[in-house]
Amino acid sequence: MALDFVLRNAAIAGDEPHICDIGVAGGRIAAMAERIDADVSAEDVAGKLVVPGFVETHIHLDKSCILDRCRSHDGTLSEAIAEVAAAKRGFSEDDIYERARRTLEKAILQGTMRMRTHVEVDPRIGLKGFRAVRALKQAYAWAIDLEICVFPQEGLLNDPGTEELLVEACEQGADLIGGCPYTDSDPPGQIARIFAIARRFDCDIDFHLDFDLDPSWMDLEEVCRKTEEMRWGGRVAIGHVTKLSALAPERFRAAARRLAGAGVAVTVLPATDLFLMGRSHDHNIPRGVAPAHRLLDHGVTCSIASNNVLNPFTPFGDCSLVRMANLYANVAQIGRPNELAACLDMITSMPAKLMNLRDYGVAVGNPADFVVLDCHDRAAAVAEIIRPLFGIKNGRRTFVCPPAKLLKEGRGHDNDMADRS
Ligand SMILES: [Zn+2]
Repeated sequence: MALDFVLRNAAIAGDEPHICDIGVAGGRIAAMAERIDADVSAEDVAGKLVVPGFVETHIHLDKSCILDRCRSHDGTLSEAIAEVAAAKRGFSEDDIYERARRTLEKAILQGTMRMRTHVEVDPRIGLKGFRAVRALKQAYAWAIDLEICVFPQEGLLNDPGTEELLVEACEQGADLIGGCPYTDSDPPGQIARIFAIARRFDCDIDFHLDFDLDPSWMDLEEVCRKTEEMRWGGRVAIGHVTKLSALAPERFRAAARRLAGAGVAVTVLPATDLFLMGRSHDHNIPRGVAPAHRLLDHGVTCSIASNNVLNPFTPFGDCSLVRMANLYANVAQIGRPNELAACLDMITSMPAKLMNLRDYGVAVGNPADFVVLDCHDRAAAVAEIIRPLFGIKNGRRTFVCPPAKLLKEGRGHDNDMADRS
């Protein structure tokens, strides 16, 4: 087969990193071998780590970049929901598109190539957010595969008209359905309705769940029970689940076994969970981040994701998933190389599994999606918050981030100027 180009000496992430050449033809990986002899253009990455793009399973593009329109006084979850609900009344489709575009471009520049964005639907906002993000999905398909999860942030059974809108969005191209039982007057009732919509459209489900630190009750059991009853194992994810961080070891192990057995995956959102949890404490403030690495030990599929940037849920952020993996490692107090490597897996292969992506991975036949990192192994990427050098999506270069350069003793200034002339 005629190749279009070859990426030489790429370190492929895995338990045993191996160096190989990757041949690309027609936007796909056509060959992988220790040495590919072909008279085509080639780029030697000299043993640098190559990942098939980062995978963001949980972000809200529609409500990013609204910090200047909201108050963050108490810093609680209920305040964040109320502030965004008020700001949302002023959203237009163009405004949502523009803010979402800024955030999406940042994520692309950080090496994210697959993304699930949660989009709010209710009778106030209607389908404005959905339509704006659907347009964005098409406009940026050259750089990122965007999956749209519509969900009722402000409740379902307590908010008449919402279910009809969710159904309409599913009819018009939403990829999956989400839920948020903790804002509903009837949490089990909402869970049942969401499963019913998922069955009708044969789609996956992604809940916001168990988002506080009170271990006296959880919706986790009901989601696992419905997942088994509907035979939806492997198609259900739950996000935040901060209550897991408040469970004593024995109950935690039981919950982890339950999740693994039912086939329910977990997304941990360290930046948001750290910012919002434990606000009732005035000292010894709990971290409130679910221990994903310990869930992995029990066979639960886990991802680390961003949730938000620049809004009352998450006032910070640059859309870097590597930085989020590093934040998680720091908060979870893990530092062994194999555990740091697992943190990189939670922003690559694990979230790909959560999203049921069947064509993800550096392997022959898959799309030629590569992000080249300025390091040689997975642990270093997380420990040093390594930035990508460049990205290739479907065989085409989508971004470059040249490494910063020291100008020793002031020299280089002239060269620098000469470079630009
Ligand atoms: Zn969320």
